[in-house]
Amino acid sequence: MSSPRVKVTSLKPHPLNHKRLHTASKAGKASKKQTPESSRLQEAFTFCRQHLFPRWDRKRRWRIKLDPTLDSVALCHFKKRTIFFQAVERDEITLLMLVCHEIAHAALQKRCGHGKRWQHRMLEASTDAENVGNSQLAEAIKRNAEAYTPDNSETVTPASIKNNIRDVTFDFFHGDGKVPALTTVLHHISLHSCLSVSELRRRCRGYKAAYKDTIEEIEAEEVERARQQSPHLESIADNLEPREPSDGLQPSSVT
Ligand SMILES: [Zn+2]
Repeated sequence: MSSPRVKVTSLKPHPLNHKRLHTASKAGKASKKQTPESSRLQEAFTFCRQHLFPRWDRKRRWRIKLDPTLDSVALCHFKKRTIFFQAVERDEITLLMLVCHEIAHAALQKRCGHGKRWQHRMLEASTDAENVGNSQLAEAIKRNAEAYTPDNSETVTPASIKNNIRDVTFDFFHGDGKVPALTTVLHHISLHSCLSVSELRRRCRGYKAAYKDTIEEIEAEEVERARQQSPHLESIADNLEPREPSDGLQPSSVT
């Protein structure tokens, strides 16, 4: 079977590569490299303000900051009127799309919702991007907005987190043929749910089991696929080891 078994959900990764976002900067050793990254972030912020959100924050009270210690990819802090980014995405379109995503939250003055109002604001921004001649950005913003369904965007349940762990792991695997680390998967879900990684872990105690079950599912699929293609398959399972230790896994009790 060649069709992917991944269901399309609200947290389906957008087609642009997110992985560098999670590995580009490690807490503690990024301080010396912050200047060029910070200026790219500021430029992205300025572009989005001017072209996609011209009526928002006219008094220029909001700021954007790089904070490598952040445990989510990005955070919209309403009280501080600051958008924090853990790292700066190297791909320009993805960076602009992510900044746009956060400003759309800031512009609505409402925490962490990906409901209809947020989606509508993103689609407006997409049109604006198109109008200034950046079709690639317009498409990236539109896809990101459409990856959320208003029905389930407001609530993140243990079951939805488990589903998303499975879907994101499969999507990464189908993207480059490698099993993503659990932390990469959680960071990705964090970006789309606006919950920190530690909050995701707290809400879903079975997150490790969900990840382990997914890895086993991928392994079983690959072994089966290899069996159909070739009789020599001893090393297939070895190549599918996750990139980080997965000790302390709970027994399979995912419902
Ligand atoms: Zn968001």
